[in-house]
Amino acid sequence: MRIDLHTHSSASDGTDAPADLVAAAAHAGLDVVALTDHDTTVGWDEAAEAAARHGVRLVRGTEVSARSAGISVHVLSYLHDPDAPALRGELARSRRSRVHRAEAMVERLAADVPITWQDVLDHSADAVVVGRPHIADALVARGVVPDRSAAFAHLLRSDGPYHVPHYAPSAATAVRAIRAAGGVPVFAHPGADARGRVVPDEVFDELADAGLAGLEVHHRDHSPAQVERLTAIAGRLGLLVTGSSDYHGSGKVNRLGENLTEPHVLAAIEEQGRLPVLGG
Ligand code: AMP
Ligand code: ZN
Ligand code: FE
Ligand code: FE
Repeated sequence: MRIDLHTHSSASDGTDAPADLVAAAAHAGLDVVALTDHDTTVGWDEAAEAAARHGVRLVRGTEVSARSAGISVHVLSYLHDPDAPALRGELARSRRSRVHRAEAMVERLAADVPITWQDVLDHSADAVVVGRPHIADALVARGVVPDRSAAFAHLLRSDGPYHVPHYAPSAATAVRAIRAAGGVPVFAHPGADARGRVVPDEVFDELADAGLAGLEVHHRDHSPAQVERLTAIAGRLGLLVTGSSDYHGSGKVNRLGENLTEPHVLAAIEEQGRLPVLGG
């Protein structure tokens, strides 16, 4: 069984439409794929229809933006009720804040490089969630940088002069809202230290108390040392261990199925989640 529990469509900052992403998952030989767009569930229905057509099982999820110890972090939610008010409210607030934040970043960037807010709108037409990758695409189109990665290397980096943060709930608030919605919260890429600072060990104790279900241990952005560290923490706290690609279509090098989750872990997630895994 090939199970990939973290992907993005053009509903957020991936480049494949939800149905195309599911088709790509089928062609990549995946048996199960999770659609986990940033701060939205808007791609779920299209993905579900495609999953039925392609014979792929679908885990409906969301990658929830959050903050912990002053650091921007991501909490994956699996199989939650999309209408549950607390989580729905937090996601709506993050999405709204993301628009103002992106406008503010473009204003700062425009002082030094050719870019307009209209450029970003042109490159986020399918998205209900605006992110730095859309600003990156606008910079690529203007010839400022060759690709998204080059944009993130300097102009868009979180500790750079053009960066503006957006609203996000605390990680503990996110975990509690996910559980209240019947979702299964898994801390996404908690050891991605090449992207910036990562949370210290005691944060996992706090989040486990709040209801955290698992850690995404196997991820491209984790060094062998981080995999070892996170595996030990998951063992100590009795947390599930997942592995995923974090596929973004052509926007990132991550390939579908490059990291996988074990079937018994998916079974535990399904048992804890309010919604069923579709198909199969
Ligand atoms: P934002 O959520 O708007 O702060 O943007 C962060 C998103 O940018 C993350 O979800 C990543 O998927 C994406 N990202 C981060 N670094 C890179 C990179 N080097 N190349 C492409 N995308 C990136
Ligand atoms: Zn992303
Ligand atoms: Fe993420
Ligand atoms: Fe992601």
